[in-house]
Amino acid sequence: MHPHGHPAGDDPPAHGSIRLIEDKCTSCMICVRECPTWCIHIESHSEELPPTAPGHPSRGRERRHNVLDSFDIDWSLCMYCGICIEECPFDALEWAGPHVPGVDSRQALVHDRSILTSTHQLHTQPQPDPAPGQQP
Ligand code: SF4
Ligand code: SF4
Repeated sequence: MHPHGHPAGDDPPAHGSIRLIEDKCTSCMICVRECPTWCIHIESHSEELPPTAPGHPSRGRERRHNVLDSFDIDWSLCMYCGICIEECPFDALEWAGPHVPGVDSRQALVHDRSILTSTHQLHTQPQPDPAPGQQP
């Protein structure tokens, strides 16, 4: 059963899990700000690009760009509203496959960038063992 009560396999395919298309993401943070449940967490840093000008590689202004360090979605908070997908100005998020299946621990519902970029991994992520003496 999905954490929000959707039976597995009973969900409309159009609003399943979300895939991150990493090459398109600029770490602009718009999805983080627009998500109504604050379930997206991104970390990034800025890097300087060498100055380039046509025909003069050593001239021109230096440019900076964001480099994505981490991108997590906490599926225990996500309500599948699609606002992040709609608001991303770079089409870096898209619906992909069925809802994330229910798991035994909250921690397993936080999917990182390696999982979010692969729908195959998204639905086959191994669940971590609960700590000794801890309820899952
Ligand atoms: S679908 Fe909605 S709740 Fe889920 S991550 Fe996107 S904006 Fe947040
Ligand atoms: S809105 Fe799109 S480009 Fe911006 S951080 Fe989110 S996924 Fe990346």
